[in-house]
Amino acid sequence: MINKKHYDVVVIGGGVCGSAIAYYLSKSGAKIALFDKGEICSGGSGANLGFSVLTYRKDAVLLNMAIDQLFKLSELAKELEIDIEYVQTGGLIPISNQEELKVQTFLADKCHEWGLKEVCIIDSKQAIEKEPALDPENIICAAYCPLEGKVNPFKLTIGFIRKAQEMGADIYPRTKVTGIEVSNGKVKDILTKRGKIKADLIVVAAGPWTREIVNMVNIDLPVLYKRGEAMASTKIQPTIRGMVTDGRLFTKACVIGDMEVGSCLTQSASGNIIVAQATTKVDNYDCYSTAEGPMRVARRVLSFFPSLSDLQIIRTWGGLFAFAEDMMPIFGFLNKPDNLFIVTGFHSAVCISSAIGQMVQEVYSKGSTSYNISNYTPQRFIKNGK
Ligand SMILES: Cc1cc2nc3c(=O)[nH]c(=O)nc-3n(C[C@H](O)[C@H](O)[C@H](O)COP(=O)(O)OP(=O)(O)OC[C@H]3O[C@@H](n4cnc5c(N)ncnc54)[C@H](O)[C@@H]3O)c2cc1C
Repeated sequence: MINKKHYDVVVIGGGVCGSAIAYYLSKSGAKIALFDKGEICSGGSGANLGFSVLTYRKDAVLLNMAIDQLFKLSELAKELEIDIEYVQTGGLIPISNQEELKVQTFLADKCHEWGLKEVCIIDSKQAIEKEPALDPENIICAAYCPLEGKVNPFKLTIGFIRKAQEMGADIYPRTKVTGIEVSNGKVKDILTKRGKIKADLIVVAAGPWTREIVNMVNIDLPVLYKRGEAMASTKIQPTIRGMVTDGRLFTKACVIGDMEVGSCLTQSASGNIIVAQATTKVDNYDCYSTAEGPMRVARRVLSFFPSLSDLQIIRTWGGLFAFAEDMMPIFGFLNKPDNLFIVTGFHSAVCISSAIGQMVQEVYSKGSTSYNISNYTPQRFIKNGK
């Protein structure tokens, strides 16, 4: 029974962000409890491809977080004592037309301006050298970043959790936070199905469910979410070398009906081809896989990789990911209650999760972070500055 326990910090959400936060806070000596309504890594963190992308970050701060994490992944794996299956594969974005080229040139220029010089536009011959299974008929060139790679998102999340636990964190899967009681402008009690507890700081890292939790203190924080659908094939001989992201996903041409459809794919160490994604704006937290999503994605994959026409799909799934209206992260304290800290809406959070965890630890121990996160405050969405 956890009733009446008092923690330094309670983290709500056991996805990759909440788990990284629990890890870095535990490492600094804080007494932590983490709650997830389901299993650890059962939200979006267990539904993604683990791409560690640099090329389409929204601003220089987010790009630097992603670069910092990429350079630290090998060291992080040692620290967590788990093989997170990090491979620096390089990331390729096949470009099919002039409109896509314009967007990718703009993004590459932005990366250069923000200090990442390695992103470049390569011709179709060079693209085929990187990914020999690509059909040269369907691309005019490609954007390429040799530094990008991928990780296993389950292992990264579980690695954070296990180490946090070893350092004394109490981890409560299958324990939903059902209410938050406020008194004198501070969270007084956190209600869970196992009892009531107290904490000096409460970090909400609940992805798409963040809005529901913030509503518990009578504040509406407009956290939106989408469903991304993905699929996996049987094991085949080595065919896809790195991470491939469809250039069409960056243009309006990816919209088919109510979905955004493009082909992102990679091949796992064991030989399965992992493919995403069809994205739909949903409500009611509906993360089921549809009939048409995987079909539309498969058609697109075959236009690039016709040799995959016999690929046998063994599993499809859907997962939710959160975003804000302005597509920027939501990271910071609410004014009232002033000990409630929000962490969500980071695009592709897997590959910046360690930076996110470290930033929360910095805020906790010294009140500020080494990255400039002033644009990410949740207060930008709170009417009347409440
Ligand atoms: C198909 C797909 C492909 C993707 N590909 C990539 C990729 O290649 N690279 C990348 O970096 N990102 C990718 N993403 C995005 C990535 O998955 C998310 O950015 C990331 O998982 C967000 O992690 P999180 O911890 O914020 O949220 P989540 O993983 O969603 O975790 C939130 C947790 O909060 C818990 N929770 C909710 N309400 C409560 C409550 N009341 N009490 C207790 N717990 C609660 C939930 O159960 C959940 O486990 C992809 C996403 C999808 C769907």
